[in-house]
Formats: sequence, C-alpha cells, structure tokens
Amino acid sequence: MVETRVCPGCGLEMPRSDRSYDHYFNASPECWSLFGEIEAREFENPAILRRVHQLTVDTYAVQHAGGPHPDKSVCIHLVGLYLALERGLPPERIRPAMQRLAARGAWPHLEPPREREWLTTYDVALAASPEEHIRLVRQWAEQVWHAWREHHAVARALAEEVLSER
Ligand SMILES: [Zn+2]
Repeated sequence: MVETRVCPGCGLEMPRSDRSYDHYFNASPECWSLFGEIEAREFENPAILRRVHQLTVDTYAVQHAGGPHPDKSVCIHLVGLYLALERGLPPERIRPAMQRLAARGAWPHLEPPREREWLTTYDVALAASPEEHIRLVRQWAEQVWHAWREHHAVARALAEEVLSER
C-alpha cells in the first residue's frame, strides 16, 4: 500500500515523498513541488508568464491559507484575485496595487472555506499545451475565488483603500 499525504491547504492527496517543505504556505511538500512545475512551465513561456503568472501565484497562495500562512499574505493575494477576476485589471496594474496595500499595518484573519470544490496543482500541472495551461489556471482561480465568497466584501474593501489613493 502506498502511503499518502493530504495537502492541508487544497486537500490534494498524493503519494508521500521524502521531500520537505519549509515555506509559510499551508501546503504539503508534494503539492508545493507540483506548484514548482507549474511555475517552471510559466517561466519557460513568456506569453503564459505575462498573461497568467500573477493569477497562478495569487490562486496558489489563497488556496493555501491557514496554518502558518500569515494573514497579511492571504489578504494581499485575495485582493490580487479580486482585482483580476472582478475588476479585470491586467497584472501590471495589480502588482503596484498589491505593493501599496502591503504598506498597511493591521490585517484581518480570514478563515479559509471548508468547502473544497476546486482544481488543484495536480490538475493544472497536467495541461498539455500553453492554451490549456492558461484555461486551467483561469478555471482554478475562478473556483478558489468562488470558494472564498464569504470574504469577497473584505477583499473589495481592502482593494478600495489602494485603488482610491493615486
Ligand atoms: Zn495544495
């Protein structure tokens, strides 16, 4: 019988590897390794990188809230999802907004959703073409954003703080 490990953030169950994980996302070493593969593919392809890399990072971060993951990081990446998915802003406008937001002092704690009906790194890593990769990242992002609907108002309010000051 293969011993498995469940990712505490997204729920992905994978055969247990001998890898370790010491970053602050609430992730299993196996899930983090798949995220590394997804990122590597994006860095190999400038068109994918420009179009969805910000969304990939924000989606992964929000999907791996909880545990050691700091409230500040969860909130900032959730605002990144809000700006991309609800406001339709391009990555080059999202990044500066997230940087302005990072200067803020206090952060609410947002309890991650219990419902986990979403794609995971495993699904996205299976993409067979750049087009499919982009499509899967968008689907993954939409599902994670939807699962966090209880906190959409908080994300919107945080975004307003930095969108109004220019
Ligand atoms: Zn995971």
